Amino acid sequence: MIDSGSARLASGADGAPPAVELVGVRKRMGSVTAVDGLSLALRRGEIVALLGPSGCGKTTTLRLIAGLEEVTEGEVRLDGEVVSSARPRRCLAPERRRLGFVFQAFALWPHMTVRKNIDNGLRAHRLPPDERARRVARYLAMVNLIGYEDRYPGELSGGQQQRVALARAIAYEPRVLLLDEPLSNVDARDRERLRDELRELLRTLGITTLYVTHDQVEALALADRIAIMNGGRIVEQGDPRSVFERPSTLFGAEFGMMNVLRGTLVRREGGRATFSVAGSPVALDCVPAASASPEGSSWLAAIRPGAVRLLDRADPGEPNVIAGTVTEVEYLGESYQVGFEAPGLRLRIRRDASRAAGPAPTPGPAWASIPSPSIHVFPS
Ligand code: ATP
Repeated sequence: MIDSGSARLASGADGAPPAVELVGVRKRMGSVTAVDGLSLALRRGEIVALLGPSGCGKTTTLRLIAGLEEVTEGEVRLDGEVVSSARPRRCLAPERRRLGFVFQAFALWPHMTVRKNIDNGLRAHRLPPDERARRVARYLAMVNLIGYEDRYPGELSGGQQQRVALARAIAYEPRVLLLDEPLSNVDARDRERLRDELRELLRTLGITTLYVTHDQVEALALADRIAIMNGGRIVEQGDPRSVFERPSTLFGAEFGMMNVLRGTLVRREGGRATFSVAGSPVALDCVPAASASPEGSSWLAAIRPGAVRLLDRADPGEPNVIAGTVTEVEYLGESYQVGFEAPGLRLRIRRDASRAAGPAPTPGPAWASIPSPSIHVFPS
């Protein structure tokens, strides 16, 4: 897992500087420190998802890159050029940064047609009429909106409006695209389709993209790398798979929708250990990370809902069997989400709903089993 956003890690094989680089960036707004010493670098063409809870500083980070806010400390660099710095004071105007920005709210001109909405942005960049017409046609085709040129935003669905906003941002052929929750105002059915189209589009165009979202599925589907933010800082980052499967922070685990248990690492022997769950008689046999934290220290265990197996009897041949009760069963189409409780502990379990997986789980006494390698323990 990558543990810092240093320029060295983000430099291309050709030694080119990162397309975007934030170095020790801090932003204070009155008494609030919205961004608190953040460092992050994006390679050219890389798609990075910035994931984090409300108020953690995601939008402010985008605004600092765009030049819509000045940094209080630190530097922002684009292709190696310092565009914002605290000392000496510098803040290159947003229109000179060659960035595309798509917001959560579509921000289209309501009195202009689709064509005009895109063309107007290009006109502001002083492109000649024939080049503008070529780009309007090219990028409307890319977002599947050919035939909609003469409609007004009010005559489009949320998903179509967001496609226009995307076409407008990329038609200008920016060196970096900043997307701030671009799918959150699109209805659920359209969102999935638009997400897939967006991934295709970003990969085809190879635009360096920083994508802000609350939604871990969106981040996993779109990004080459996920950076998890909390309290104005990046707390964890890495490729989607490692962040999702082997989080090293509580925030990472919670964003991966994992079960998080608090407890103590009571014994280590060779490559194995025992994790005692706080307030519960349950002890789990697990495989800890190679950290040298002493026995008896506080640890967290993160367990993916899909990794827990539900048993209808206490099978001594299964690993880490816990006796408890199924408290609720939710049918989600392809799977069941099951609530399971044992003294001092609660688990969310995801079980396959296919016929081959057996009858539907029902509320009542049950046993849960957790394979040791699926329990990710790390210091709290
Ligand atoms: P959300 O996911 O809810 O959009 P976010 O992670 O994008 O949140 P920001 O909008 O960057 O968070 O805000 C970070 C912090 O800075 C919050 O505590 C917010 O209240 C504060 N903040 C943002 N803008 C201002 C401002 N203009 N003046 C004072 N505080 C601000």
